[in-house]
Amino acid sequence: MKVVIIGGVAGGASAAARLRRLDENAEIVMLERTGFVSYANCGLPYYVGGVIEEKNKLTIQTPLSFAARFNVDARVKSEAVKIDRKNKTVTVKGPDGEEYLEKYDKLILAPGAKAMRPSLPGLDDPRVLSLRTVEDAFAMRDFVVEKKPKKAVVCGAGYIGLEVAENLVDMGVKVSIVQRPNQVLPPIDREMAADVHLNLRAHGVDLHLSDALESVESGDGLTVVLKSGTRLEADLVIVALGVSPDTALAKDAELELGVKGSIVVDEHMRTSDPDIYAVGDAVQVKNFVTGKPANIALAGPANKQGRIAADNIAGIESKFDGSLGSSVIKVFDMTVAATGINEKQAKDLGIPYDKVYTYSAAHATYYPGGRNMSVKTLFDPETGRVLGAQIVGYEGVEKRVDVIATAIHGHMTVRDLEELDLTYAPPFSSAKDPVNYAGFVACNILDGRVKQCFWDEIDDLAKNDDCFLVDVRKPVEFDLGNIKGSVNIPVDDLRKRIGEIPKDKKIVLICHSALRSYIAARILEQKGYECCHLAGGYRLYASVMKDSAAGSPSDYPCGVKK
Ligand SMILES: Cc1cc2nc3c(=O)[nH]c(=O)nc-3n(C[C@H](O)[C@H](O)[C@H](O)COP(=O)(O)OP(=O)(O)OC[C@H]3O[C@@H](n4cnc5c(N)ncnc54)[C@H](O)[C@@H]3O)c2cc1C
Repeated sequence: MKVVIIGGVAGGASAAARLRRLDENAEIVMLERTGFVSYANCGLPYYVGGVIEEKNKLTIQTPLSFAARFNVDARVKSEAVKIDRKNKTVTVKGPDGEEYLEKYDKLILAPGAKAMRPSLPGLDDPRVLSLRTVEDAFAMRDFVVEKKPKKAVVCGAGYIGLEVAENLVDMGVKVSIVQRPNQVLPPIDREMAADVHLNLRAHGVDLHLSDALESVESGDGLTVVLKSGTRLEADLVIVALGVSPDTALAKDAELELGVKGSIVVDEHMRTSDPDIYAVGDAVQVKNFVTGKPANIALAGPANKQGRIAADNIAGIESKFDGSLGSSVIKVFDMTVAATGINEKQAKDLGIPYDKVYTYSAAHATYYPGGRNMSVKTLFDPETGRVLGAQIVGYEGVEKRVDVIATAIHGHMTVRDLEELDLTYAPPFSSAKDPVNYAGFVACNILDGRVKQCFWDEIDDLAKNDDCFLVDVRKPVEFDLGNIKGSVNIPVDDLRKRIGEIPKDKKIVLICHSALRSYIAARILEQKGYECCHLAGGYRLYASVMKDSAAGSPSDYPCGVKK
């Protein structure tokens, strides 16, 4: 059997190595357009910033090492330019530009995604760069080291944009970020991004949200013109506007295409042609939570799909169950991670959900060094099935998101999150881990033990004559900032000052993180009051306000004003 693989990085190289482990006799040819195979895409921004110092750390495998270990004929600078399905051949353009035919019994497409480069004026200036390949990373690093740019504009604030921005800042470059949506990092929700915006600004990044790149004007320097009319001077422009599946070959070969032009595959990674498999950023997968078709460009799924395609070619019936889109990013000292669906997606798709915000210490508060993480968990309001989670914090963030991803994969509910028996010792966690804690709070909601109101409703509730807002924090906390119209009765004084709380109004309880307000709500509910408490507490509300005041667009759902 002869297997030809198009694309020699995450999905393609995984498929090649797995296939060889399963079948010592197969002839395996892996075609790669760039000069490198099996390279560390995800490490490229850190090479640009000099965190990864040596070029060869990005390219651990070479065609020679692949041949030695796996007996795979890995050909770099070899581009597949045509697939002839009838004759089962691939036309390859080799390093010398000559074309030749390669026959296959089975073909695996792993061409990945391409960086989006809109056709806007000025993007052809050599100082306008993108990051997708090792060659791109070398060029970007050389530019930064040799030309020593003082100012850069990064267009796009997804993972790659933010990682490049951080690495440029660390090299002393003054960075502006331009982002069309009203927030960075689309996998998380807007209010969760507020802390990320504040952290970026604290590191000197100039954020232009709800704005878009219109053109780049070239002169001695570059001028980036935005839709709003803002003009940003720069020595370097990075275009990181997202990726789209690189499926021109598949389209040409008339394979069935789906979402965003991605290749339609079945659960065995087989395309509409039974002899052609496809994996990675180029394929349409099932969103594990919604069951709907999606195109999710991440390294984990690409690697797993490569193995699955190889399994099936070798006669093992393995399946890809769908992707959760679990992701994590370092934003300076901060960690942001997410899994499953977010609130924007739930709303867009009309999926019923409820949500809880929790604010938990990464480890026991009495052990030095622990910082808090802000956790948002979405769940089905009927069954309690976990639908998604987002965490913004510092250490221990990705560990909790990984636990929740596992829970979602196992179709668990928030009751399972309550019960999960997770590791604990003071340097690592608390006896009630942040994941358990999210479960406790969600179960309180499911069981009707407390009602919530949200950060984007509280200003309206404060103006509502039928509501009475009680802030149960300490006076010293209240004096540092509070919601206009709230009165301060600390939770520890609540029982003795209960006479100050009107019985004919709905009582809205507020504290820093929604723990004391929950306790207060339980006291008052049992005394016959109708109560709700501010989910996420004053902390989340204040973070959103601070972000708006610092310049983020004020188009929050509730119309929060700067
Ligand atoms: C800068 C950067 C940082 C990233 N960071 C992360 C991260 O931290 N976490 C994460 O999960 N994901 C990250 N990703 C995404 C991750 O790298 C991809 O999801 C993953 O590599 C996809 O695997 P793939 O095999 O589908 O495509 P790729 O790994 O991109 O490989 C596709 C290869 O196919 C080659 N090719 C395409 N067409 C042809 C052709 N016709 N002939 C021959 N060769 C062809 C391309 O040159 C390319 O090398 C990052 C990506 C980039 C660019």
